[in-house]
Amino acid sequence: MKAEIIAVGSELLTPFRLDTNSLFLTSELNQVGLRVAHKSVVGDTPDEMRSSFEHALERADVIVSSGGLGPTDDDRTRQTVADLLGRKLYRDEEVLRSIHERFRRFGRAMPEINERQAMVIEGATVLKNPRGTAPGLWLEARGHIIVLLPGVPQELRALMEIEVKPRLLKLGIPERLYTRELRISGIFESDVEQRVSSLYAQYPDTETTILAAPTGIQLHPRLWSDNPAKAEATLDELVKRMSLALGEHLVSTRGESLEQVVAQLLTENRATIAVAESCTGGLLAERLTSLAGSSAYFVGGVVCYSNELKTSMVGVPAELIESKGAVSSEVALALAAGIRKRTGATLGLGVTGIAGPSGATPEKPVGLVHISIADEHGPRETPIQLPGDRERIRQFSAQRALNLVRRYYLFPTLGRA
Ligand code: AMP
Ligand code: MG
Repeated sequence: MKAEIIAVGSELLTPFRLDTNSLFLTSELNQVGLRVAHKSVVGDTPDEMRSSFEHALERADVIVSSGGLGPTDDDRTRQTVADLLGRKLYRDEEVLRSIHERFRRFGRAMPEINERQAMVIEGATVLKNPRGTAPGLWLEARGHIIVLLPGVPQELRALMEIEVKPRLLKLGIPERLYTRELRISGIFESDVEQRVSSLYAQYPDTETTILAAPTGIQLHPRLWSDNPAKAEATLDELVKRMSLALGEHLVSTRGESLEQVVAQLLTENRATIAVAESCTGGLLAERLTSLAGSSAYFVGGVVCYSNELKTSMVGVPAELIESKGAVSSEVALALAAGIRKRTGATLGLGVTGIAGPSGATPEKPVGLVHISIADEHGPRETPIQLPGDRERIRQFSAQRALNLVRRYYLFPTLGRA
């Protein structure tokens, strides 16, 4: 069965607000077996709203809207849907009482405009809102289910969980969505695609989406099925084959982040780590401390942006910076070895690079980053040329540095970031 989501609100058509409710709604609808075939965002204009609902009625079994149930003049979802279905609105005394009651509890008198929120479409079931004044409405019309929910995310979430989902479950849709999440690091999106795309045709029931971000590439194989065992087995097999194709670049298959994988490796090896960061400006330390319990393996670090600090805090010889340049293999090696020595950590990481847009030379272009890891046997280094703007280069650099730690443990002979 197909669902459609309509996000109502003129603010969602400005550059300042994003429709996030539909992401949550999609996840909830999928959980009860409903596929979201369309989503739309529409302003608080009755004509436009009416057109959105009309379209949805032509193609979806279940329509869920968010927004436009407030007390103000621009909240017109109730009226628009009532008009479209040729039904009347009436004032529901019980809803009105509960709105009065809610205001009383907060020590306020109910403003008259809130009376609008007690207006109910004929034939609708009122869905009590535990977090706010606007109730949701559940309607059945022309063979469709129409659910109107308030826009405030926490109210929408509560109503969806408590009132809507149990009702949708009663539809008894046998299908469920099965998914996996593979994380990949160290290669680019097109490389990932090239390695796995031949598998797509071999698993025609599955659909795989690929998501690229500076924090790595993700592959999400998905499968709708009414047979849980078969679905899990199919996905397991596909993931296994994808894993083989991705080789050492595969970080995880159940959505674990690179931070989590690195944390686990450091913990298993009873190792600690310290960082000396130049172009990442603390991003690496930020990611290494993002997990609870990171004090077990993260010693600390230095953001040594200036040459002076590279020397005074991390012990990089001034002559080395002078002769090789701050962005060089030699300085990266000295950063990793220096921070390791000064902190007593098991591993030291050093990052230096040109994030741009200025500071490049013909030999050292924007995006050139040197990442080094040092252990008791000394440092090793890998230069990489990263694409993108300043922000992406900085993010990529932190990602590649973390990935170097993963590779250090899992593929000690390979070395590259
Ligand atoms: P409304 O129910 O239309 O009065 O919406 C109340 C508030 O909820 C708005 O001011 C927005 O801040 C928020 N909101 C409405 N729709 C959405 C949406 N689709 N995603 C995220 N926030 C929303
Ligand atoms: Mg609104």
